[in-house]
Amino acid sequence: TNQEEKTQLEGIGLLEKLFHHLLMNTEDGQEALEYMLNRGFSEAQLAQYKVGWALPGWETAATLLEKKGFNLSLMEDAGILIKRDNGSYFDRFRNRVMFPIEDSKGRTVGFSGRIIHPDKNEPKYLNSPESPLFQKNSLLFNLHRARGAIRKQKYAVLFEGFADVIAASETVSNAIATMGTSLTKQHIQQIKRLTDTVIICYDGDNAGTEAAYKAAKELASNGMTVKVSRLPADTDPDDYIQKFGPEKFKTDIIQNASSLMAYKMWYLRSGKNLQSEDGRLSYINAVLPEISSLRSAVEKELYLKQLSDDTGVSFSSLDEQLKTFMPIKETEVQPEPLPPPKKQTIMKAH
Ligand code: ATP
Ligand code: MN
Ligand code: MN
Ligand code: MN
Repeated sequence: TNQEEKTQLEGIGLLEKLFHHLLMNTEDGQEALEYMLNRGFSEAQLAQYKVGWALPGWETAATLLEKKGFNLSLMEDAGILIKRDNGSYFDRFRNRVMFPIEDSKGRTVGFSGRIIHPDKNEPKYLNSPESPLFQKNSLLFNLHRARGAIRKQKYAVLFEGFADVIAASETVSNAIATMGTSLTKQHIQQIKRLTDTVIICYDGDNAGTEAAYKAAKELASNGMTVKVSRLPADTDPDDYIQKFGPEKFKTDIIQNASSLMAYKMWYLRSGKNLQSEDGRLSYINAVLPEISSLRSAVEKELYLKQLSDDTGVSFSSLDEQLKTFMPIKETEVQPEPLPPPKKQTIMKAH
């Protein structure tokens, strides 16, 4: 019911305050605070995003919630407590840096907690479980803060991680992130209400590149204009910002994002060895259908030129191929085995 939901939000809000206080003002939170500051997050950013610290103990939150008279079963449904077999409750989030996750109205509906010491038995991030309040398939981190900036700047920047959103916040205010899921119809509908242009800025690793490619297709097929940022492999936006700062990130990565087609070509090129004939042919085969699907003649010429530069195949050949639109044979048929050498026996004339 509405009243129950209200109580759940209050319980979550109480923990948010507790966690934030523990991080910013207590000795227990000192190591975590140092961890966050060392990563380059400022105190102002930690305050704005109400980042916190959950103590290692098992019942810090449970005890507080009980003392304040909350119905603990309701708090279990809200994802912040877990029930033991004996009926008592313990804290879901322990020993983690706590990131409040807010919904589109700015209400904190859950958390994502990060460990600060790598531990192969623990997931790096622990999220609130799915519930009526916390639905990863429609949550977009930072949407309620970014809404005005997205409208005004007429585009949104979509990140893979909420840490990237916070790291970029000094120069990129129109930033949102999914919660570790792929981009859904619900996400797209929400973005579409604000703008029809999205810059995707996912991690530079393989997973990020693949996910960016998929998200770009998804957005484009929903009639949106998509650009895609290119980050060095094994770098994510927040790594980049730590190394080069938020201004350079904005100009070199965000404002320098490629069109979807240029990104596709970069992506298709990246796995192929263009030194080899097979590599060049398979690259051409992958790109030509994409180019032929472009509506603008100018764009077609632009990318065909690029393809010609990349492969050393003349523009006119590529153009001709594009017109007939026949895929080039990928692997050449094995050359026919040479006929056995004819015996060069010279018959002596008798
Ligand atoms: P950090 O810089 O702190 O390592 P990140 O933003 O670079 O964080 P990634 O590993 O790139 O994190 O993951 C991107 C997103 O995927 C995270 O923001 C989180 O939402 C989700 N995610 C990552 N690992 C997990 C996990 N083990 N469980 C649940 N969600 C996860
Ligand atoms: Mn990643
Ligand atoms: Mn990342
Ligand atoms: Mn990161």
